[in-house]
Amino acid sequence: MRDIHLLLIEDHRPDAILVQELLREDFARRYRLTHAESLAAAEKHLATGRFDVVLVDLGLPDAIGREAFDRVKALAPHLPLVIHSGLADEELAIELVGQGAQDYLVKGEGDSRLLCRTIRYSIERRQALDTIREKEEQYHLLFSAETDGILICDRDSGRIQEINPAGLELYGLSRNDLGVLKFSELQAQDQPPPLSGEESGLWAGGENLQYQRRRDGTLFPAAVSCGNFQLRNQSLQGVIVRDMTELVNAQRLKEEMLQAISHEMRTPLTALLGYTEMLLDNPLPEQELATHLWTMHGECLRLAELVENQLELVSFLSGKVELERQAIEAYQVCHAALLKFSPGSRTHRIQIDCSENLPHFRGDFRLLRMAVENLLSNALKYSPADSRIDLAVQANSSHTTFCVTDRGEGIPAEICDQIFNAFFRLRHWDSRTLGGTTLGLPLVKAIALAHGGSAWVEPAAPRGSRFCLAIPCSDP
Ligand code: ADP
Repeated sequence: MRDIHLLLIEDHRPDAILVQELLREDFARRYRLTHAESLAAAEKHLATGRFDVVLVDLGLPDAIGREAFDRVKALAPHLPLVIHSGLADEELAIELVGQGAQDYLVKGEGDSRLLCRTIRYSIERRQALDTIREKEEQYHLLFSAETDGILICDRDSGRIQEINPAGLELYGLSRNDLGVLKFSELQAQDQPPPLSGEESGLWAGGENLQYQRRRDGTLFPAAVSCGNFQLRNQSLQGVIVRDMTELVNAQRLKEEMLQAISHEMRTPLTALLGYTEMLLDNPLPEQELATHLWTMHGECLRLAELVENQLELVSFLSGKVELERQAIEAYQVCHAALLKFSPGSRTHRIQIDCSENLPHFRGDFRLLRMAVENLLSNALKYSPADSRIDLAVQANSSHTTFCVTDRGEGIPAEICDQIFNAFFRLRHWDSRTLGGTTLGLPLVKAIALAHGGSAWVEPAAPRGSRFCLAIPCSDP
């Protein structure tokens, strides 16, 4: 067994010798004693030596009583302290033990056995305490770092006793609310639909998915799990709250998307069915047949665009798109995008203004072509037949910018931002009559952002709108 290294802080030499003698009588352990006659001397020893325990007299030349205790504690915060005092002051003893002294021995009272046992136990106790503190720190770290809200509530009163930082933020609470606010006050009174049906199955943990109320009255969907426990004579309830806003939004988006897509697919499919049935029943002269075939081709394009946009957008939403960057020449993107609108089906005059000498930039050719195609497709849909559409590209030292300008009705300034959101339609009849997916602009924006660029719309003079896509020259 290792020797116990003890620092004795004692200014009275005979007392120090007596302690040494008493320690020598312990046959179970050996003690290595370092003697300091003042706090100043103790400080030097503590700075250089490794000790297991400090035995301190409270009447020292450089400090006495509580002050002596406080100063030794500050010098050796991690060591067990045993007071060895000439004063049989019960009150002081209780106070100092309350403040962290391991024990309080009165000089002359007790023998070697008492002294040695006190020293040994003080070391054991301190080690046990350190272990508990370490565990407590671990739990506290876990509690503080957890990203879900954790609340501890009194079951009888329902009041919140403790809450972690994530919980405070989630509900917009402050620590002043603790002990006052009831957990039931954070529950939404009327659960808005639809959290009971399919969405409640989102959270596989079996917890309740329900709306919670923030301090400011706003609601958010959350997965809530509760567990009851008893701490001494208090009945407590532990609650873990996970914010499900993102998941619920994603689920809603998925449902809206499915709904919109099934709806949008029906229009071209119905047209295609009608035309094919008509052509099967009535053989037509060649000229008329060609016209119908062009119409059917247009509907097929519409279906293809829908599927392509949807697949691409879903990949973006699920973070599955990895850009295949290559050196790109802007005019090649423009010409590739234009190929989609075969001259025979064009109802507008499309003008390209893009020099072949613009500097190369890096990007994903396929995605950029798709973005420009979408902008052109919208310009064709939402501006009068025979009007002019411009596809212009400009480059400066930081960005290459593609702009598509039409002479249509334009976009009111107040909704210029919203128009890039999925399922946003300016006019209800737009997509119904013109065949749209409402996924085109969100895809354009997703492509711009994936390149570290941006997409926006601005009014064009004298009428119409200009949709722009700016791609940085260098990789983000
Ligand atoms: P869609 O497939 O319905 O065209 P988009 O996401 O491309 O979907 O466009 C969303 C909505 O924005 C359209 O339904 C239309 O109301 C409006 N919009 C898009 N482009 C234009 C434009 N060039 N002029 C006027 N409105 C437009």
